[in-house]
Amino acid sequence: MLQQLTVRTSAGECLIDITGEVERAVRAANVAEGTALLYVPHTTCGITIQENADPGVQHDMIMVLRRIYPRKDPAYRHIEDNSASHLQASTMGFSHFVFVSGGRLVLGRWQAIYLAEFDGPRTRTVLVKVLRD
Ligand code: ZN
Repeated sequence: MLQQLTVRTSAGECLIDITGEVERAVRAANVAEGTALLYVPHTTCGITIQENADPGVQHDMIMVLRRIYPRKDPAYRHIEDNSASHLQASTMGFSHFVFVSGGRLVLGRWQAIYLAEFDGPRTRTVLVKVLRD
């Protein structure tokens, strides 16, 4: 069963913790042991796993991605004028997997799953498929 999560992002660039929504999808799949596959069908947002304790980590990730990929560059050719958003999203990647054990996501103590928005705010989709062992 392919599940679809809807995530409303709140800013042009932000990391949204979707761990709770993914946990709910895992419970809905009723899989005790397996693998959760996560995929975002977008080109200007990605998905990542990062620390959930200090919000400074999220700030620093966005800050450094801004430095690497400037908003404006006369060499950009993309007609939509959001090349930085595409580059940032590709850097994060569009898919992840997380093991499932005991019906729960297997994440490290400080880990959370984030939708990484780079061209918001807008409504995004996260697809979740939980494979049984
Ligand atoms: Zn574009």
